Amino acid sequence: MKDLKDLVRRNVWNMKPYSSARDEFQGNASVFLDANENPYNGPYNRYPDPMQWELKEKIAALKGVKRESIFLGNGSDEAIDLVIRAFCEPGADNIVSIDPSYGMYEVAANVNNVAFRKVRLDDRFDLDTDRLLEAADDDTKVIFLCSPNNPTGNNLSRDRLYQVLDAFQGIVVIDEAYVDFSTEPSFLGELENFPNLMVLQTMSKAWGAAGIRLGMAFASPEIITVLNKIKYPYNVNLLTQEYALSRLNETRNKEMQVETIIHERERLQEELPKINCVRKIYPTDANFLLVEVTDANAIYEKLVQRGIIVRNRTNVTLCNGCLRITVGKPDENKKLIMALKEL
Ligand code: PMP
Repeated sequence: MKDLKDLVRRNVWNMKPYSSARDEFQGNASVFLDANENPYNGPYNRYPDPMQWELKEKIAALKGVKRESIFLGNGSDEAIDLVIRAFCEPGADNIVSIDPSYGMYEVAANVNNVAFRKVRLDDRFDLDTDRLLEAADDDTKVIFLCSPNNPTGNNLSRDRLYQVLDAFQGIVVIDEAYVDFSTEPSFLGELENFPNLMVLQTMSKAWGAAGIRLGMAFASPEIITVLNKIKYPYNVNLLTQEYALSRLNETRNKEMQVETIIHERERLQEELPKINCVRKIYPTDANFLLVEVTDANAIYEKLVQRGIIVRNRTNVTLCNGCLRITVGKPDENKKLIMALKEL
């Protein structure tokens, strides 16, 4: 990896971060007259911990990483935006990613006026490592990868991910939003081996908490320090921190839900191919299925008329004719199958 100092935008490297009241005083006190809060209506009258240490301790223990290697944000979407703002000079630097993949990488690049280079996956929806690395040049600061990938559902091959981590001198983001539904292990265990690795995870999928907006980025403490420097001071609100702390105690419940979802995924994989309008089910390691149907637009509309909403991906690269279907509860999946049979 290049020196971090040469990767981070110069203005970000040189700037002094905002110092909040809660940053300046840490320790025990009983009278807080430092942050212009209303003294009534506790505990929500107080600003939350800007560094979310209690929550990070919990996540560190759960994931086996150092708490200094964790950044928490308002969904993974915040981490995606901050990585771009930290490393990519608008109008000069670029990002390389895969196509198709999660749409927010490109949106966040566009918002920041950073060129976004997309490299098509191969016909098995896997990484074309050579073309990916060829697309990168000296101004490429970040490569965004997603495994299991959205909307294709598959894991990218592990050895190809290693090749990218080995060869690329900038930051490699591996978005693992769906890793809990996968048979492949996380790349979190590789943080110590690859200083250029950043892993994204979220409470929005397996943990069943998309509503609280809590995303996690894991990387070297040096990289995390850069993200912390530019984030909003109180980017994770107190209600979210509290709920996340309690939900993270419910690992058994989360695991049972994941098991049920995987079981239902298998049932859908068996049932869907028997239906006339279904042409192909792609292999998946996530909580959704990419399904090729006879007429994606028409079938999407007919499902909407029956109150069933899936994601029409027919206009997405390599996904012509495809719907992306999230695995629901057993009765929801039954309704989907019934509806598709009746079309
Ligand atoms: N990454 C991927 C691959 C996703 O599919 C999604 C949500 N659809 C996200 C990140 C966003 O996660 P969050 O809710 O944590 O912002």
